[in-house]
Amino acid sequence: MMNEFQIIQDFFNQQKMHRDDVTLGIGDDAAIVSIPADHQLVITTDTLVENVHFLANTAPFDIGYKSLAVNLSDLAAMGATPTWITLALTLPQKDPHWLSEFSRGLMTLAAQYNIELIGGDLTRGPLTITIQAHGVVPNHQALRRDQAKPGDLIYITHTLGNAALALELMQQNKIIPESLSTCLNRPEPRITIGKKLLTIAHAAIDISDGLAADLSHILAQSQVGAEINIEQLPISKQLLEITSPEHALTLALTGGDDYELCFTIPPDKIQMLDFDCTCIGHITAKKGLHLRYANGNLYAGTLRGYQHF
Ligand code: ADP
Ligand code: MG
Repeated sequence: MMNEFQIIQDFFNQQKMHRDDVTLGIGDDAAIVSIPADHQLVITTDTLVENVHFLANTAPFDIGYKSLAVNLSDLAAMGATPTWITLALTLPQKDPHWLSEFSRGLMTLAAQYNIELIGGDLTRGPLTITIQAHGVVPNHQALRRDQAKPGDLIYITHTLGNAALALELMQQNKIIPESLSTCLNRPEPRITIGKKLLTIAHAAIDISDGLAADLSHILAQSQVGAEINIEQLPISKQLLEITSPEHALTLALTGGDDYELCFTIPPDKIQMLDFDCTCIGHITAKKGLHLRYANGNLYAGTLRGYQHF
């Protein structure tokens, strides 16, 4: 019989890598870690619920991978270096194959960023995964949503819309290319870019609910507005091959799950951007989000992103 402690031992306490700053990991009532000198602790948590955040037929490896990826994306948006995670897992039953694959997906990404799993919880119920991710950032340097300034240029990393299209096609039971399903199931947290942005960007956010919704958070918290040229939005070639330009635009603006970064920088810093990113507009003192075609006409499509309530 595999009891609770055996599950933890067999599937979650097998990490090879151990960090020097972990005094006490899995096995006691709580974990103990040391924060490096002159750094602040950055903490985030995200829950994934079956049929809400992923389809029931998603591979367990991908569920493990994505549960961590979405948390790391939040740390990336703060410019933090990830260090430790805890995992609260609610399972309908104990399924060794599922647990093994889930754990492998989670640990694959954790190993990539030198992250140690230092504790968690295990309960029975509808499949739900909650990860709390911890990271560190040099004192007072974290990227925030409330520091965008009029005149800043607005940038997006990589491309938008692929994950939303993948979800749409899967919901229609269509076969989709693996490169597209990877965008949905194994998003790459932009940790390296976030760290580079620490000394460059004024504000940053990760795009989980669609560009329009997430950029609006920066605008509201920084008390500024933005002018966006929608013809400059980075949309992948692949997206344009599969769907119409109009639909691609809707997906880029309102589709969720891309986990790219949107950041604002003063114009004199653009030569420091040595990674894949695209300027889509600028921050204005006048409030409001204005999306325009290159000819100046306002974009009239929907801007509403995914909302749970
Ligand atoms: P307690 O009853 O004191 O809360 P638990 O029985 O929940 O302790 O957990 C025992 C140990 O295993 C703790 O150190 C806890 O952090 C760890 N743990 C529990 N669930 C997980 C999990 N899913 N992944 C990693 N560690 C876990
Ligand atoms: Mg406890």
